Amino acid sequence: MGLKPTCKEVHRLVSEGLDRDLSLVERWRMRLHLMVCDACGAFSKQMDLLRRAMQQLTIPDDAGQEPDEK
Ligand SMILES: [Zn+2]
Repeated sequence: MGLKPTCKEVHRLVSEGLDRDLSLVERWRMRLHLMVCDACGAFSKQMDLLRRAMQQLTIPDDAGQEPDEK
């Protein structure tokens, strides 16, 4: 019983995952919970979309440039 994180803990981990790298154990607990909890799965998906959107905002616009070949 104690091994399973609560929804509250998973929400916290998902949020913290945006700011820092989660430990292997934290990621495992989160993933296990997401497999059995639809609500947290939806929450995690939303946060993932948000993170990707934020990353795209910070990526410099270098479209059209050829990658250097060395
Ligand atoms: Zn949950």
